[in-house]
Amino acid sequence: MKPWASIDRSTVWPYIAGEVGEFSYSRDAHPTGRAAEAGLEALDGGHGLLFASGLAAASAALLGLLRAGQTVALATDAYYGVAVLIRDLERWGLSCVEFDQTGPPPAGADLIWIEAPSNPFLTFPDLEAAAAHPAPVLVDATASTPVLLRPLEHGADFVLHSATKYLGGHHDLLLGALLCRSREDYDRLLEFRTRTGAVASPDAASLLLRSLETLPLRVERQSASALELARRLTKHPKVERVRYPGLGPDPLAARWMTGGFGGLVAFDVRDDARAVEQSTRLITNATSLGGVRSTMESRRRWEGERVPERLIRLSVGLEDVDDLWDDLEQALAQA
Ligand code: PLP
Repeated sequence: MKPWASIDRSTVWPYIAGEVGEFSYSRDAHPTGRAAEAGLEALDGGHGLLFASGLAAASAALLGLLRAGQTVALATDAYYGVAVLIRDLERWGLSCVEFDQTGPPPAGADLIWIEAPSNPFLTFPDLEAAAAHPAPVLVDATASTPVLLRPLEHGADFVLHSATKYLGGHHDLLLGALLCRSREDYDRLLEFRTRTGAVASPDAASLLLRSLETLPLRVERQSASALELARRLTKHPKVERVRYPGLGPDPLAARWMTGGFGGLVAFDVRDDARAVEQSTRLITNATSLGGVRSTMESRRRWEGERVPERLIRLSVGLEDVDDLWDDLEQALAQA
């Protein structure tokens, strides 16, 4: 039977001879979610938990693992939503120190939070330096996916994915995932997910199962196209800077790169980024990333001054690479 055909939307399952079975109430766990978690475990290793979104997974990691008075060492380049979330949680006694993830994390932190590669700057963390720190390490591997990087094999304790992005791949599901190295952490976070109710829906989990079947093919093609476009953009007179893992003097990322490292490219234009993003015909001017259709946007609108005004993030889909290049060229000509 096809795995996505086996969606079970029940919220309750009968007790077995009066006893609670594997599934009893869907806020605790449900068969479709469990099947999707097993799919993620096969890719990433560890013990998997699905959440209603990437930020629900991030909230569970912060609130479920830490307590008041503790400190997160957060990569300055990491997804801006995580820094915003941690600042909000400062009301509950959590504190945050930011650091450059291409070097070692600061001493005294209770959780190390890095991103491989970072969105949208595409810097690559020093995984060895992070693993050498005594605190547990969480790697947000949304942009690399387990096809390109399996952080648990590099000393990480947790992997986080916004499964909304490449894992889902079609801009039609919202999900987050945590993979835990240890069974104890998994048990703790499963309990926390049940208490807070941030569980994934069976429908989204079933769509994820569909998507996992094509993940390696999609990521391979998106990476090859993104690398090709990044190379062409570096030679374009209207482009000041291109950010892509391994493209510049970035020895850490280059180590991981074979045929392109992921479908995200960021580039800084010399003129008006808004004019460029609004001039594309094939690439959709929209937020988010990781889908089979390319999307592109200036990040300043969301992230404010931490992002250069002329930085554009392009998420490369499955379209023909020459068609994408033609679209970029004509859009750059408009600025
Ligand atoms: N982590 C990264 C790297 C992201 O890009 C995002 C969303 O853009 C998230 C986490 C949050 O995921 P979600 O939007 O599924 O809550």
